[in-house]
Amino acid sequence: MKVTEVVVHVLKSPLAEPFAFSQGWVRQRSATLVEVRTDAGITGWGEAFAQGLEPPEIAAAAVAHALTPLILGSDPQDTEVLWHRMYHATRDYGRKGSVVAAISAIDIALWDITGKARGAPIWKLLGGAFRSRVEPYATGFYRLRGQGEAERLAEEAIRHHESGFRFMKVKLGYGVEDDIACMHAIGRAIEGRGVTLMIDTNHAYGRAEAARLGRALEGFDLRWYEEPVAPEDVAGYVEMRARLSTPIAGGENEHTLYGFRDLFVAGAVDVAQPDLGSCGGITGARHIVALAQAHGVAVNPHVWGSAIAQAASLQLIAALPVAHHSLFAQEPILEYDRSSHPFRQHLITAPIVQQGGWVAIPGGPGLGVEVDRAVLEKFRA
Ligand code: CA
Repeated sequence: MKVTEVVVHVLKSPLAEPFAFSQGWVRQRSATLVEVRTDAGITGWGEAFAQGLEPPEIAAAAVAHALTPLILGSDPQDTEVLWHRMYHATRDYGRKGSVVAAISAIDIALWDITGKARGAPIWKLLGGAFRSRVEPYATGFYRLRGQGEAERLAEEAIRHHESGFRFMKVKLGYGVEDDIACMHAIGRAIEGRGVTLMIDTNHAYGRAEAARLGRALEGFDLRWYEEPVAPEDVAGYVEMRARLSTPIAGGENEHTLYGFRDLFVAGAVDVAQPDLGSCGGITGARHIVALAQAHGVAVNPHVWGSAIAQAASLQLIAALPVAHHSLFAQEPILEYDRSSHPFRQHLITAPIVQQGGWVAIPGGPGLGVEVDRAVLEKFRA
């Protein structure tokens, strides 16, 4: 089998109501999707992560101009060989960010093709499934005005719980005092409901403020404190782990086995959060999972992309060993973004949804999902 064509689809949709995370206002949702075609008539799909402020055209250009010539004519089932070919060819100008996101998108598509060719889901190719379903956590609590929204966020927590979520991640980083006020309002609203909270500041603070926030929230028994400091400040991560009892999470802005090696060797995180669409795809995530296991670090993928990224994450989660084995070991949970996204769910014919507090992991060949081409056309940039 040979790769005959690589098609990039850039999708965009403005949001009726923009929302903020700590780094800025998200006014549109976008996606960089990659379709890899073969001479066997099998097509694979991948997605490059595009966070809320990132132009999707950057990864699209890397796919079209840098990576496509490297894989045309190759056997798409040579996933490891092609990953290294793409990484080595872009090393001097890549290694991080959108170039690795572009590699990730192609890699996911190659695994989708390989699974389809063999009639097996990707998790089967990765060595089998530890689980057939996963508990989702609600990522939400974005801001519509900025500060002073504690009561609205408390109501949002109740809505998530009534929709079936037992885990929730609160977006913080809008000022330490405002953050603390919001957490107390949310805590009061969900008291006695058996909800576990996480927090995520998207590296809004330096070490002193990050630690002050963490200490003020120690009573919440948070499952993790995500991106407390800037991704470059590895020593800051190490310091947070030493100063706080809450597990420290990070990695959505880190890439490949090389980047994660630096986090693990330094002892920077308790929970590593590679995003399938930017860490290097399925191949990149597989490397990172093995490294994490060797360093006693849990892996819990970051997911903020559209349906293809969600599907890729589910395939990895199925094949993800628990970090610390025991009878009642902590299982990975699925990031389930609750913010507005006009096309995420509609992009595939059988949307990935939470039902009764669980998300089923697809068992069909490859990613186990089918793209609705009418939706591609509707949201094409
Ligand atoms: Ca995050």
